[in-house]
Amino acid sequence: MKPGVGIFGFTGCAGCQLEILNLEDILLDLPSVVDIINFRMAKSENLDGPLDISFVEGSIMKYQVGELKKIRKNSKILVAIGSCACYGGVQYLQNFIEKPWKIVYNDKKMKYASPDTKSLSSYVKVDYSLPGCPIDKEEFVDFLKSVLLGRKPKMKSYPICVECKLRENDCLLEKGTICLGPVTVAGCNSKCPNNNYACEGCRGPVEEANISSQAELMKEKGIDPVDLIRRFRMFTSGAKEFQEAKA
Ligand code: SF4
Ligand code: SF4
Ligand code: SF4
Repeated sequence: MKPGVGIFGFTGCAGCQLEILNLEDILLDLPSVVDIINFRMAKSENLDGPLDISFVEGSIMKYQVGELKKIRKNSKILVAIGSCACYGGVQYLQNFIEKPWKIVYNDKKMKYASPDTKSLSSYVKVDYSLPGCPIDKEEFVDFLKSVLLGRKPKMKSYPICVECKLRENDCLLEKGTICLGPVTVAGCNSKCPNNNYACEGCRGPVEEANISSQAELMKEKGIDPVDLIRRFRMFTSGAKEFQEAKA
């Protein structure tokens, strides 16, 4: 019996599911090692479970909680994929803007949409998190391989700077560019600094991130106080560590 897998999407842009579909080299091999039971973005016939592994993308709005709980109940392992699922994503920013819902929609009542959207772990137990906006497809494959081989997947506990240094990139911070690599968890192989772009922190905080020291460094580089807070909150404003950044 092959393990049963489900890939689900809630409130997000579907970019993380798309990254899985972008696994061109191995996509056609996946059905030989797993039984893809539910993947609405890729299949027309989908079943509700039971599932060995569920990969869940997107943040959760109130009307979606029941469906998420059903997936949790049907799954042995539940994995949050992408920063929307792990931290609430860009849409969580509305919690920090005064009355954004009212400004856009005024008092209009809508059946499904609501200003309240949260990470998966606000409602159910999450076994593993693969952050990023979008996820890193190689990290997804490594994760799946570990589970299929019966190994406990190793989650990264070091920052992007480690990956960046291993590639011998010139440090952007030293050149005066604000980079969140020191406080962001590794796993994307320092994708942005490799291409001369600063890390924007899309994977969220690394364990024991020294946020105050990073903020001091940013101030030394002359960042505007409002911009400092915005940088920490761009992709993962639901992460407590990044919320603690002070200008
Ligand atoms: S984490 Fe980014 S890519 Fe993934 S669903 Fe959310 S917005 Fe889209
Ligand atoms: S460029 Fe960014 S990620 Fe790379 S070493 Fe410098 S601070 Fe770290
Ligand atoms: S370098 Fe930073 S912003 Fe770029 S993909 Fe990696 S974590 Fe995200």
